[in-house]
Amino acid sequence: MTQPDNASNDTVGSVHELAVLSRIFPLLPSASAALLGPGDDAAVLAAPDGRFVVTTDMMVHGPDFRFAWSTGHDLGWKAAATNLADVAAMGARPTGLVVAIAATRDTPVSLLEDIASGLRDACAELAPGCGVVGGDMSVSDTFTLAITAFGDLEGRAPVVRSGARVGDVVALCGDAGVAATGLRLLFDRGVDEHGTPDRSLADRLRAEHPDTVGAQLAPRPPISAGVAAALGGATAMLDVSDGLALDARRIAAASGINLDLHSELLGSDPEMALRGGEDHALLATFPANAPVAAGFRVIGAVTEGSGVTLDGEPVEGVLGWDPYAGWNGQAG
Ligand SMILES: [Mg+2]
Repeated sequence: MTQPDNASNDTVGSVHELAVLSRIFPLLPSASAALLGPGDDAAVLAAPDGRFVVTTDMMVHGPDFRFAWSTGHDLGWKAAATNLADVAAMGARPTGLVVAIAATRDTPVSLLEDIASGLRDACAELAPGCGVVGGDMSVSDTFTLAITAFGDLEGRAPVVRSGARVGDVVALCGDAGVAATGLRLLFDRGVDEHGTPDRSLADRLRAEHPDTVGAQLAPRPPISAGVAAALGGATAMLDVSDGLALDARRIAAASGINLDLHSELLGSDPEMALRGGEDHALLATFPANAPVAAGFRVIGAVTEGSGVTLDGEPVEGVLGWDPYAGWNGQAG
């Protein structure tokens, strides 16, 4: 008889918070900007610039992710990646994350360890030097992971959405429509006959389509390109979370201009590129008289007007993912 492995059977509801934290802490990435890391009532982060960028993004079980599709590692990775992308989109370098988790009582502690490993691996690959400086844990009927991210502008002006000017070029760094293709596959073939998300179907799908399903479950936004864009003179920028058409419209509205996208520059499936979200590519505008920053490719031009056009024609219909309305406006 083998001894039961108690550590692997522990759930959040069966052990004390201190025991959970003692297992998670060693897995978390440390932040090079932390003057005082986790362990006190609050952390202390260096802000040599005199300002810091701060943003938050939350993952709620159901609308934002499903454990039937995402592993704990995926969830930690994606939660880090989406927050890092928001910091990058300001032209800042991510420095620290604060992580709050509300877990159901039956959540295995090993799942929280996997989330911590996902946070660690995402920081190491996407934003070296950025780490987790603090957090909080509670219990809830709905598993929720909320991250607050901090970033350093390193003396540069933030790149905001309102700076695009007529004559600028529109450029993109990262994928457009790849994660949404993965999400479509998961909704089409990652569910059982009752439409319920299924782990074994999702695992098989991911093995068959690692690029698209992997991009949906664990996206790899080009975080360092945010600083490169700022240094390269970007006039406006954001990360594409809800689809190119919808997010381009946000720059257009803030800047009072039109973004004309060119279909032949949007890849093999312009429609998916336009309306598919969650790749967290960086969409920026640059002055036309200089090359765009390294890693970016030109996909259009800033013109007079207000909104988004494709080859000069207005982009019609529902523009992308909306957490309340669902995919293409249909509750998802
Ligand atoms: Mg964003």
